[in-house]
Amino acid sequence: MKAKYDVLVIGAGPGGSLAARTAAELGLSVGMVEKRPAVGAPVRCAEGIGKEGLAEFVKPDPCWISADLRRAEIIAPDGTSMMLESEMAGSKVGYILDRKVFDRELAWQAAEAGADVMVKTRATAPILEDGRVRGAVLSSCGETRNVEADVVIAADGVESKFSRWCGIDTTIPVREIMTSAQYLMTDIDIDPYTTVFLLGNEVAPEGYLWIFPKGDRTANVGIGISGKKSGPGHRARDYLDRFVASRFPNGKTIEHIVGGVSVCKPLPCTAAGGLVIVGDAARVVDPLTGGGIYNAMFTGRLAAKTAADAISCGDCSKEALMPYDSAWRESPIGKTIARNWHIKEYLIRLPDEKLNDIIHSAASLNMKEFSTLNLVRELMKRNPKLVVELAALRALLL
Ligand SMILES: Cc1cc2nc3c(=O)[nH]c(=O)nc-3n(C[C@H](O)[C@H](O)[C@H](O)COP(=O)(O)OP(=O)(O)OC[C@H]3O[C@@H](n4cnc5c(N)ncnc54)[C@H](O)[C@@H]3O)c2cc1C
Repeated sequence: MKAKYDVLVIGAGPGGSLAARTAAELGLSVGMVEKRPAVGAPVRCAEGIGKEGLAEFVKPDPCWISADLRRAEIIAPDGTSMMLESEMAGSKVGYILDRKVFDRELAWQAAEAGADVMVKTRATAPILEDGRVRGAVLSSCGETRNVEADVVIAADGVESKFSRWCGIDTTIPVREIMTSAQYLMTDIDIDPYTTVFLLGNEVAPEGYLWIFPKGDRTANVGIGISGKKSGPGHRARDYLDRFVASRFPNGKTIEHIVGGVSVCKPLPCTAAGGLVIVGDAARVVDPLTGGGIYNAMFTGRLAAKTAADAISCGDCSKEALMPYDSAWRESPIGKTIARNWHIKEYLIRLPDEKLNDIIHSAASLNMKEFSTLNLVRELMKRNPKLVVELAALRALLL
C-alpha cells in the first residue's frame, strides 16, 4: 500500500468495491482496506437482489448466483398466502446470491481495474487537517501507518465508525435497528424458486421472517424484528427458533449469523471535506425491505464519480463533494428510501387484523387484474376505514 492515494476506500463490501472499481476505471490511484481477513466472509445477509438492479453493475454469473427466483409469497398473520409472480413482485424477485463469492468477485474487479486491496487492514482513525479529512490511520498485523488521500470513501457498513470519528452523528434510534438472526438450513422442504415473507406480531414484531432459497433443499431462513421489541425470551433468535421448530423440525443448520439492519432515514448529510459516505454507513438501506446491496453499489459508484470530478478540479472541499449527496437523494433510490420510510412507519403500527385485511384483499384479486386501483376497490368493499388511513398515507407521500 502506498503512502498517498487519490481515493482511499474503507471497507470492501459491495459499496466499497464498486467505489474502488469505478475510481480506478476513471484513472485514479485507489487503495481499499478491509478489516476482515477475507472479503465476503462471514456473510451477514439474506442475499436477495433484484435482477435488473444487479445487471447495472455486474454481468450475472452462475458462480455467485445460488437461486434464480420466479415469485414471492407473502403470508399474512392469519396464514393467508398471496403469491406475486415475477412481473408483479418487482425488486423482491430476482436472485439469491452467494455473497461470499459475489463480494470477492467485486473486490477482484476493483483490483483488476488497478486498485490496491488490503485485507486484515483496519482504519482506526481519520487524518484530519484544517477541518477536513486527509486520509486514514491504518492498522495491519500490529503495524500502524498513515495513508493520505484526496478523498476518503467511508464504506464501512452498518457498524460504521469512520464517519463518527470525523464528527458526523451516525446514531440509529434503537427502534429503527432491525435486529436479525438467520440460519442457513439444509435438508428442508421448500420451493427453490419462491421467496417467502411471513408477517405478523406473533411471527416477527415490526419486521418479517424470510425463507430465501439457495438450492433445492437449502435456504436462508431468517428474521428481523425492531430493536425495541427485542428482549430476553423474545429476541430475534427466539422467534426464529420457534418458527424453525414448527416448520422445519428436521432441517439442519449449517451456518448461523446475527446482524443489524438500519431502517431509519439516511444520514442528513453524506459528504464532508475530503469525505464521502456510502452504503450502509450512509444508512441508505431501503427501510421497508432492509435491502441494501443495490443501494450500496449505487452510492459507491456515484461517490467515486463525484470524487473524480472533485479531484480533477483540485477541490475536494465539502462543497465540491456535495453533488454526490444531492445526486443520490434525487435519484430513484433516494426517492424510494424517502417514500418507503413512511410506508414502513405506517405498516409497523398496523395490528395483525388490518394486515390480514390488506393481504386478503390483495390475494383475492386475479393477478392479471392486480393494480393499486383494484386493490383499493377491494379494500373499500371490505374495510372502508382502512382506505381512509391509506389515503392519509398517500397524501403524506405525495
Ligand atoms: C441479516 C441481514 C439480512 C440482509 N439481507 C439482505 C438482502 O436480502 N438483500 C439486500 O439487498 N440487503 C440485505 N441486507 C443488507 C446488506 O447486507 C447490506 O445493505 C450491504 O451489505 C451493504 O453493503 P456495504 O458495502 O455498505 O456494507 P458491508 O457489506 O457491511 O461492508 C462493509 C465492510 O467494511 C468493513 N469494515 C468495517 N469497518 C472497517 C474499518 N474500520 N476498516 C476496514 N474495514 C472496515 C467490514 O468488515 C465490511 O466488510 C441484510 C443485512 C442483514 C444484517
